[in-house]
Amino acid sequence: MQIADNCVASFHYTLTNTAGEVLDSSEGHEPLVYMHGGGNIIPGLEKAMLGKQAGDAFEVTIAPAEAYGERDAKLIERVPRRNLKGIPNPSVGMRLQANGPNGPQVVTITHVAGDVVTVDANHALAGETLHFKVNVTEVRAATEEEIAHGHVHGAGGHHH
Ligand code: ZN
Repeated sequence: MQIADNCVASFHYTLTNTAGEVLDSSEGHEPLVYMHGGGNIIPGLEKAMLGKQAGDAFEVTIAPAEAYGERDAKLIERVPRRNLKGIPNPSVGMRLQANGPNGPQVVTITHVAGDVVTVDANHALAGETLHFKVNVTEVRAATEEEIAHGHVHGAGGHHH
């Protein structure tokens, strides 16, 4: 069957950036399982999956707008070191849980200069053009319960 809304599809993927560096891959793991049409994967990849079937292999290049969005300068903040309670030695690359306007969010420390720490709440892949190499391994109809929940249950998925 072909991938369409309310299908559950499994696929292997290798994700590279424009420099050709591998950012992520399902190689050596279980394939990724998702329910189509629910916004469970990035929009550009979901569009590319539409109409594919088990055994199909393809490659797709996805612009930031259809992936993790453009980098937003408003999500980069400079904060005084004293605001980072419980973090005696903030250093570049450290990821912290912060309270944003929409609840808890993960921010990354991108710069430390004296008393001023720069934190960035952009997704690590924001602003990146992504290249996916995909192998579709399985396509099945979603169950009523999966459709009601908007996500996959069972092997490769989860239940709650
Ligand atoms: Zn559920």
